Amino acid sequence: MNVRPLLITLSLCIAATPCGAQTLPDLGDISAATLSEQQEKTIGNRIMREVRIDKDYIEDPEIFDYINSLGQRLLATADTPHQDIDFFVVRDETINAFAMVGGHIGVHTGLILLTQTESELAGVVAHEIGHVLQKHQARFLAGQSKSSWTSLAALALALIASRSNSNQGAQVTEAAVATAGALQIQTAIDYTREHEREADRVGLTLLQRAGFDPRGMANFFDRMLKANRLNEFKGAPSYLRTHPLTTERIADIQDRIEHGREPILSMMSSDSFEYRLARARVRATSDVPSEAIKYFRAQLEDKTIVRPREEVYGLAVSLQRAREFDAAWNTLEPLLKGPNAHPAFLVLAGRIKADMRRDSEAFEIYRAALSAHPGYRALVYAYNELLQQTGRTRESLADLEERTRGNPDDARLYELKARAMEASGRSVGQHRAQAEAYFRRGNLAAAVDQLEIATKQVRGSDFYELSTAESRLRELRQQLENERAAEKALKIS
Ligand SMILES: [Zn+2]
Repeated sequence: MNVRPLLITLSLCIAATPCGAQTLPDLGDISAATLSEQQEKTIGNRIMREVRIDKDYIEDPEIFDYINSLGQRLLATADTPHQDIDFFVVRDETINAFAMVGGHIGVHTGLILLTQTESELAGVVAHEIGHVLQKHQARFLAGQSKSSWTSLAALALALIASRSNSNQGAQVTEAAVATAGALQIQTAIDYTREHEREADRVGLTLLQRAGFDPRGMANFFDRMLKANRLNEFKGAPSYLRTHPLTTERIADIQDRIEHGREPILSMMSSDSFEYRLARARVRATSDVPSEAIKYFRAQLEDKTIVRPREEVYGLAVSLQRAREFDAAWNTLEPLLKGPNAHPAFLVLAGRIKADMRRDSEAFEIYRAALSAHPGYRALVYAYNELLQQTGRTRESLADLEERTRGNPDDARLYELKARAMEASGRSVGQHRAQAEAYFRRGNLAAAVDQLEIATKQVRGSDFYELSTAESRLRELRQQLENERAAEKALKIS
């Protein structure tokens, strides 16, 4: 059983809100009456701690950055000052997208692949932003006793935990849901019928303002509903269970587009190349490599004159994953010509060369690419990984030192730093860097553990490094204590 859809429903119960205006209303007071922003944050962080270690949570910087830039582009058009929202992708072939308490929005790879245009994907994401901005969960909770929403948070956690733990976990979960949560889940689904219309309304406004084709939302929902009727899905898409979808709802959206206040720009943006690229990358990295190769070869079969770059790239990624390095290189090479090669192509080029053990060529590619695209994360990571693999630890450390100053929130940079420190026998530095990585991933307990190990190191440490670790340890211990107290108050620790 796939547990995520239930979680989604639960997450809607825990956190999300309706309103009648076309513009986004200020609902600050309503949410304060139910769940404080701090409480939402505490629950959200607790759940995200589990989500981030789920094997299906996608860390791939190119996919992650795409979905975040799409989300932020939509969010930037909202009227009211809003909470932070972050976006992530889950590797799951079922069709789903969900908003969780605290402003975390997840999209399944299956849904991304089902979209045919960027406006369709933007429509789904805008709808989820609508749930968060309108605080639907908080409104739902207004009608609930406190004890029921804390147990729902605990249940949501159990559901996520069971995902990573095989069938046995799933059965336990199913039983737990049957006894503890069935009623709430049902109520939540009924409740969301109204909320769905609200999220559509708000989402549509964002969609139009951000320059997407608002018809994308209606088209996608309509296609999903029809496909479901014709039984074209393996089982009903989770999305339809958590976001009740009816022909009336779609007609509503269409009506709003025709009679809405937001003008439909006559020249609607076509898909961005970034969308097509992210989609190809999702496909190329989701399937078994041989299946992905077959897919992209079939796509490219008759396209001898114009070969869409994203499909060529997808094929090259798949070939590299299948360890067919020569074929991967020959496929990719035409995309590297000219001064404007996309940085994703350059990362892949460097990786293939490194796989072929042609390190100096790989370095040459990375260095040129980094000077043209200094902030492209995948490039930075790949370059440092190669430095470390080839024993150039000191160079990597110097590079990472500078980059963590420029991007102090990037957990992955700290992980790379920890590895380089370990390779150079600097154990205090290693555990300090690892602590900073955990801290940035929201795992305070693990960060404190690392700092405790760091402060106990005798070898390879100097006074300055140790005392910095000690003061950081005091600071994070305090934060952890506060967090635990907050979780305890919410009964989710
Ligand atoms: Zn919805």
